[in-house]
Amino acid sequence: MNVRFAGRMDKVKPSAIRELLRLGADPRIISFGGGYPDASLFPFEQLEEVFQTAISANGRDSLQYTVSNGLPRLRQQIAQRMERDGIACSQDNILILQGGQQGLDLVAKMLIDKGDVIATENPTFLGALIAFNPCEPRYAAVRMDDDGMDMDDLELVLARNPGAKLIYTVPDFQNPTGVTMALERRKRLIELANRFDLIVLEDSPYREIRYQGTPVPPIKSLDTEGRVIFLGSFSKILAPGLRLGWAIASEELTQQLGLLKLAADTQCSTLNMSAVSLYLDTYDIDVHIASICQTYRRKKDLMLETIRGSFPQEVSFTEPSGGLFTWLSFPRNFDTARFMAEHALPEAKVAYVPGATFFPLEQEVNHARFSYSTQTDETIVQGITSLGRLLTSSLRT
Ligand code: PMP
Repeated sequence: MNVRFAGRMDKVKPSAIRELLRLGADPRIISFGGGYPDASLFPFEQLEEVFQTAISANGRDSLQYTVSNGLPRLRQQIAQRMERDGIACSQDNILILQGGQQGLDLVAKMLIDKGDVIATENPTFLGALIAFNPCEPRYAAVRMDDDGMDMDDLELVLARNPGAKLIYTVPDFQNPTGVTMALERRKRLIELANRFDLIVLEDSPYREIRYQGTPVPPIKSLDTEGRVIFLGSFSKILAPGLRLGWAIASEELTQQLGLLKLAADTQCSTLNMSAVSLYLDTYDIDVHIASICQTYRRKKDLMLETIRGSFPQEVSFTEPSGGLFTWLSFPRNFDTARFMAEHALPEAKVAYVPGATFFPLEQEVNHARFSYSTQTDETIVQGITSLGRLLTSSLRT
């Protein structure tokens, strides 16, 4: 049959990451590719217990429909945690989502008509591009460095694109670079958003996975005009299979997003929301987060130390203070996708994510995202060392 697809389907393409996740499942390959959290860090027994209790204590209500914006108790608990992080909010500002990813989809549906401009970091989170693409936006890519998005460049980009609607940023331990936006830049970002009258989408699923240094205030905490939408997630601090995240926005925007949520999937799983709410009442999630951070810090230190000791000098890398990723940059004409297909995979049995797909406009081929989250100490050393050997011979010839 000749299916007459909607025009937007031209923008919906299989992602290179899917292929990588598949590779990551091959036990012979040491994959630094996928962005999965380390499953051994899920609070398994506690979650097992709260799921049991959610059913036995809440009975049939735990299996019934509930309010579309999410269980009021869970929204209250999230609001309290976010208040501690400097974001003044109540449960009326919170929409529970099927992971932060759903927030990307709903925000694009709420704001973006075909051709509307979204300014993003360059590079940016691939999953956001995938979520935005069906709305057929135009992208404006903003330079970034070790302090995050470059505000002079953002100002230029916004001046060149009057009517731009949205700034999308991952300010904490960005995916894919691991970089965090400095406070001065967050302040300037708000000034620019106010001046050019656009919405800021602050996507911060890694915010609490900080293992060194002090937290930088969320952009949302600097927002005085209700133009920042903050996205948080339980994926990295509890478990991604729960599919629970949240948006924090002005009451007006929360209501509009709620209508789209209702249209998309009615609500998140009542049982999952009850169980997570019970978890937050019963256990100290901050103690759990602190222990996750210790493990990620050890793995990050080990990966960077091994890269330093075994990769050629021409390869540079970011030094994240949290999150799951480091971003490697190779000499300009070095194609990381080709190197992976021709050498890293067949000869070293190592996978990573070639950087090109993270660029919304002009793809740069000489970068790669490495994740230290799922491999063991032994496989980190083994994979990085064999890759270092291959790179040394490739870059020297
Ligand atoms: N934003 C960023 C920057 C991410 O890296 C991810 C997950 N990898 C998400 C959003 C979505 O995560 P989830 O839907 O599991 O909350």
